[in-house]
Amino acid sequence: MTEHEHVRVAVIGSGFGGLGAAVRLRREGITDFVVLERAGTVGGTWRDNSYPGCACDVPSHLYSFSFAPNPDWPRTFSGQERIQEYLEGVADTFRLRPHIRFDSEVKQARWDSEKLWWELDTASGTLTADVVVSATGPLSDPKIPDIKGFDTFPGKVFHSARWDHDYDLRGKRVAMIGTGASAIQIVPAVQKEVGRLTLFQRTPPWVMPRADRNITRAERWLHRQLPFTTQARRGLLWGIRELQVQAFTKRPNELGMVEQLAKRNMHRAIKDPALRAKLTPDYRIGCKRILLSNAYYPALARPNVDVVASGLSEIRGNTLVAADGTEAEVDAIVFGTGFHVTDMPIAERVVGADGVSLAESWKGGMAALRGATAAGFPNFMTIIGPNTGLGNSSMILMIEAQLNYLADYMRQLTVLGGRVALTPRETAVAGWNNRVQDRMKRTVWNTGGCDSWYLDENGRNTTVWPGTTTEFRQATRRVDVGEYEVVRPPVEAASKKSRTKKKAEVSAA
Ligand code: NAP
Repeated sequence: MTEHEHVRVAVIGSGFGGLGAAVRLRREGITDFVVLERAGTVGGTWRDNSYPGCACDVPSHLYSFSFAPNPDWPRTFSGQERIQEYLEGVADTFRLRPHIRFDSEVKQARWDSEKLWWELDTASGTLTADVVVSATGPLSDPKIPDIKGFDTFPGKVFHSARWDHDYDLRGKRVAMIGTGASAIQIVPAVQKEVGRLTLFQRTPPWVMPRADRNITRAERWLHRQLPFTTQARRGLLWGIRELQVQAFTKRPNELGMVEQLAKRNMHRAIKDPALRAKLTPDYRIGCKRILLSNAYYPALARPNVDVVASGLSEIRGNTLVAADGTEAEVDAIVFGTGFHVTDMPIAERVVGADGVSLAESWKGGMAALRGATAAGFPNFMTIIGPNTGLGNSSMILMIEAQLNYLADYMRQLTVLGGRVALTPRETAVAGWNNRVQDRMKRTVWNTGGCDSWYLDENGRNTTVWPGTTTEFRQATRRVDVGEYEVVRPPVEAASKKSRTKKKAEVSAA
């Protein structure tokens, strides 16, 4: 690479994490950066998930940036379109668009140990960057399970995160696979229009009522006129969730009381004892993400819906066969089967200092120092990295904490001066992860008796943060340079070594 473009920072992805990183870099006075986006618009998972009924189950005033409050959220739990609009607005308000390169999927990012920079090969060209911030998010690459006979299905198939809006579901026999946060929003949204809906439920979820309502014009007026009222509202939403954390992390038995509320939510809508039995979970609430819906159970009680209490295991032409042998003839299949979270495809494409990919290095389980930096990957930071997920609050709080860490990381590089990289010491990464895993032992995610996407194939919880957002914010306020090795270009490092040796010889003489 001779003539090429070089930037201080390359951010991958323009969802909440990537846009947040861009705002933060600019606030730090760094303008020499690009945001590499694989699609043609910003928004990340909120752009990709446009399925009917898609909304956020975290209240909007908390599920937004603290530095970009929106007094005009229309509902307490706003829908996908409004969240997407909000993100487009952030890109405009903070003048981020000149930095964003659309249609620029990163094919590979490779660390050059001589030059101390990242070489990025993207769909729109190559460039180098001192620092890479990977903000691709854990919920970006749809997962469709390997089902025997998949290719024999003659009908329409799509994933919840790749909804085909041109396909008309009216009157069709539709199979919904899965009962996660996406599926429980899709089911009530499509139930009225489809001919027949067959839900393949491998594990019943716990579903609580959702306190969703329009935010009144008076409230919005107040938030516009007196911005501190938006902050107060956000603070209250945050505080309540902080108080809930202990039950998830230390005293899962306390969650038993919440199960009663979820059961009541189900019993209100489901009168048939056989259906109630199918829909009753046998694990501790909170072990999987607690779902919120007022419409899911009423939809399941409708006569055009069948619940198959067993996972999809085989497809024979139009016939879908569940693991318990139940069969259903369908015209279309919607997979609400989640994402590649603990095996993110971007990890295959990032190659670190030893020529090893992040995916290989994480073969035994994802691990990063303070959820951000991985051993062997200098000047590479992940936003929403390992063990930064939340079971009950807003991921935007975690993203903003990580942005503080990024800002201080950039400051530390400036203080060190010259061509320099920081790479986390293996002992620091191991120490951090041992502490996280130790705390994880008592949490509901590990002890609640369920299997979930929080756990990797080895049963290790590498996704969730076992503490409050306050604790995480404190842990990521500053970069402790002692946790890092300072890397200099080989020539510079060698001459520094020889200068030191010479000095030692002179002083000895
Ligand atoms: P998910 O939570 O990973 O759920 C996947 C579902 O697919 C599970 O119910 C799983 O069953 C099921 N499944 C997998 N293979 C199956 C098979 N062969 N037959 C039947 N079912 C099968 O995925 P998701 O619903 O897309 O949600 C992922 C995450 O996205 C959520 O946890 C949440 O963090 C986020 N999300 C958030 C919102 C929001 O409102 N903020 C909305 C949507 C999504 P098992 O349970 O048995 O594994």
